[in-house]
Order: sequence, then structure tokens, then C-alpha cells
Amino acid sequence: MGYTGTMSAGSAERSNRFRAMHFAAWMLASVVSTIGCDRTGPTFDELSPPPVPQRIDAPTQHVVPGRPNLVLISIDTLRADHLSTYGHDRPTSPNIDRLAAESVLFEHAFSHSPKTASSHMSLMTGLYPESHRVKNRMTGGQEWLGSLSADIPTLAEFLEAAGYSTHARTGGGNLHADIGFARGFETYSSPTSSYGSAIFKSSIGRLESLARSNQPFFLFVHTYQTHSPYLPPKRYHDAFVDPAYAGRITTDHNELSRGKGSDFSNVYEAFWSRVDPKSKSDQQHLLDLYDACIRFVDDQVGALLDRIDELGLRENTLVALVSDHGEEFGEHEGFEHNALWREILHVPLIIRVPDSVRPGWGSKRIEATVGLVDVLPTLLELMKIPIPTHFQGSSLAPIVESGAAGRPWAFAQYRLWNQNSLQAGNWKLLRRGPIAQVFDLSEDPAEMNDVGPTRPEILADGAEQVDRILEASRAYWPLVREGEAAELDSEQRSRLEALGYADDG
Ligand SMILES: [Zn+2]
Repeated sequence: MGYTGTMSAGSAERSNRFRAMHFAAWMLASVVSTIGCDRTGPTFDELSPPPVPQRIDAPTQHVVPGRPNLVLISIDTLRADHLSTYGHDRPTSPNIDRLAAESVLFEHAFSHSPKTASSHMSLMTGLYPESHRVKNRMTGGQEWLGSLSADIPTLAEFLEAAGYSTHARTGGGNLHADIGFARGFETYSSPTSSYGSAIFKSSIGRLESLARSNQPFFLFVHTYQTHSPYLPPKRYHDAFVDPAYAGRITTDHNELSRGKGSDFSNVYEAFWSRVDPKSKSDQQHLLDLYDACIRFVDDQVGALLDRIDELGLRENTLVALVSDHGEEFGEHEGFEHNALWREILHVPLIIRVPDSVRPGWGSKRIEATVGLVDVLPTLLELMKIPIPTHFQGSSLAPIVESGAAGRPWAFAQYRLWNQNSLQAGNWKLLRRGPIAQVFDLSEDPAEMNDVGPTRPEILADGAEQVDRILEASRAYWPLVREGEAAELDSEQRSRLEALGYADDG
């Protein structure tokens, strides 16, 4: 594939055109309701919010013998239900399926934000977005930060303190080093081609050199391969796309970069300018391209897994595979990831733990509701590193090893339009500014029918719990110094303004 641009800051955002349409559709949906049925089950008023923190614990030097390596793979924008192992009806993921068959797979893992920087920072800090306050580079929210506070430690810093050799290969953009993601890493780089296999090739190269050392290592691999514009290589394209498609969407790089050049944002805008959002045929075509991209990145994952085996690393290496958020394809009249619907928050979470590292983690599928904030404490426990007191997530080891219940709710937020969501049991509350909706997931897993008007008590209890979670999260603010504001250059600034993202918080 000819496209070699890297993802520039903020380019991953949607245009005003789509956002306005999405919001109008959402407003319309909010006045449609159905009659709720009587049911019993967990309700929002039974939940305990996260405790109010007293302090932030810094990483401690803690070196124990026989520590396992960690390979953490984040496939940006990968919704769980488009992997075969999560029930997709197309063969998108034979290699990830193979990993899942040897791993603990969490059926109900949720992201806390639909945006890349906020979500990854929750993964890396064990804190909700409202607590770490890191946002995508181009999105607003004045009291939020351009980079992570130096007082909040990250996964890489915990492992650095524990004597690990730490390395990252990412797609850049909203995982830019300046935001705080590079802290704790010996090397943190974004290969020039964020599309294609360059990131995985570079990761495998690093893995080979790490395998020759006796020092334990942490390798973080991140790719935008399944983020739009969906541009799969031809072989994968042809395996998933209907040859009879007659719409305007193209994956021809020359056509997409004609006139304006091959910058990510130009290709991105050119791709989406051809999409007719009302066309079912275009929606299906986007899904086909997305599945083809998943199949492509799945082969990259397969190559990495094979190399782990060939280098003899398997028995002392943890492998975790996650995504930061999913993707919408018109289910709720929108595209990409700017809302808190299930298709945007339900993400894969797969952790492979060799018996020799910790028994009880063989091939299992876990039903409990879990979140990305739980990943960091879980990994630290598996690596025998003390878990700090300030995390908002919890280790999943008790759930996996002894069937403990865990936290029964999942929280998410996005500062655009002041969106929050809370899911507990069969209920989901969705707030956008002054508008709130409630969905009964037992009857309406696709979140189509707002039962709020007939269940005002559920709606009120859910809203109160959301406010308590936000309040507990804001208690982190006075405990930390603010991060340095990430600088935008003039071109980034003008693009931001052109896209209407200058002040959307
Ligand atoms: Zn993302």
C-alpha cells in the first residue's frame, strides 16, 4: 500500500459535518421511547463509587527474581464484536482467536472514553479520564491537561522501577510522546509508516534483541491499522469487499491524495468526503473495509506471536491484547467514535499467562464486567509488583482465579457535549449535556429504546452515581501538579480551528 503518512495530531477527529448530523439524530432518538417492562435485577442505587484518594503512590524499586516479560498489544479502534472469537460471523481474526484459545478472555470489557489519548491513559494509569485529565490533543476542556501530570505514574514507570527494559512502537498521533506516554520507556518511537506492517516489523526486531538479554522486558505495540480511513492491502480488501459495490468510496491512495497530498488529514478527509452516510450500501462497504483491516492486523499479531514462540520466550512472557475503543457504523446514525454507545465502548481484552508464571489463567472466558482501568493493577499483580493504593481499577486475579464478582459497573465519559455513561447489570444510563436516557439491556442490548420516561427512578439513581464517580475522580486534582501543556504548531492549530475543534469542551 502506498500510504505512508503518520497520523497527525487531531486528524483523527470527525468533521463538523458528521458531528452535526450525529447530534441531530441523537436528539431525535432521545424523544423516542418505548414502554419499559417490569423486571428485577441490580439497580444503580446499589453501587459503591470508587473511594476518594488520599495520596498518589510513586513506583518503588522492587526487584524480584523470575519476573515475566510483558508484551502489550493495543489495536486502536477495534470493537470486540468484530473478532471471530467474540462472535463475529466473518473470519476476521484466526490469529487473535488462537491467542484467545490459550488465554483468559474477558467477554465484557469496556473502555472509559471513545478517544485515543484519554482511553490509553486510563489503560496506562489505572485511573478514569476525569482523574488523569488527559485528552486528545485537539479537543477542548479547559481544566483538562495537554499532558499527564508528572505525579501520576504509568505502567512503563512501574516496570522501569522494577528493573525492566521498556520499549514502545506506536502509531503516534494521540499517543504522542509529549502527552506523557513515553515516560518510563527506554525507547518510544513511531515508525514513519503508521499504516502497513512497519510497526509490527519494528516490534519484532526489538523483540529479537530483547530476547538476547537476561533483563526482563516490556514491549508496548500500538497500531492505527483499524482506524479510519480504512485502507486494507489489496489481498485483504478483495477477501472481504463485495466486488459489486458501486458507490463512491475508494481506497485508491493516488485518488485520495490527489490535489492535496498524502498527509494523513488530507487522505482522511478525501476518504470521508466520498461517504454517503445515508446509504446502506456505503455503510456495508465501510464494514467490509473495516473487517479487511482487522484481518490484516490479525496477520501482524500472528507474526509477533510466532516470533515470541520461535525465540523461546513463551513460557516467561505475558501477552495482553486490548483496544482503546470500538467504532460506530451508522447503528446510532453516527460514524467512527464520538459517543458512548456499546459498539464504541465494548473492547477486546485477552491476557495470556503461562502456568509457570501464575497458575489458574489457562483457557477461560470471563463473564464479569471489567474495564481498562483494571488492566494495570492486574498486570502488576501478575508481575509480582506491589499494587498502589490510588488506582481506580482493581486486579482481575480474584475474578479469574476464584470467581469473585468484581465491580458490577462500567463508567465512560467524553467531554465533547459533556457525555457520560454508566452500565450496571442490565441498565445503561447515557447522558449528553442536559439529556439523559436509560436502556434496558436485557431486552435491548443494541441500546435503541430509551425507557427513561417510564423509569424515572432508574434514571435519577444512575445520574446520581455518575456524579459521585466524577466527584471521586476530581479528588485527584489537588493531589497532583499539572502537566506541561503540549504545544501545537500553527498548522495543527489552523487545522484544529478548521475542523471546529478549537473549543469544544
Ligand atoms: Zn483510538
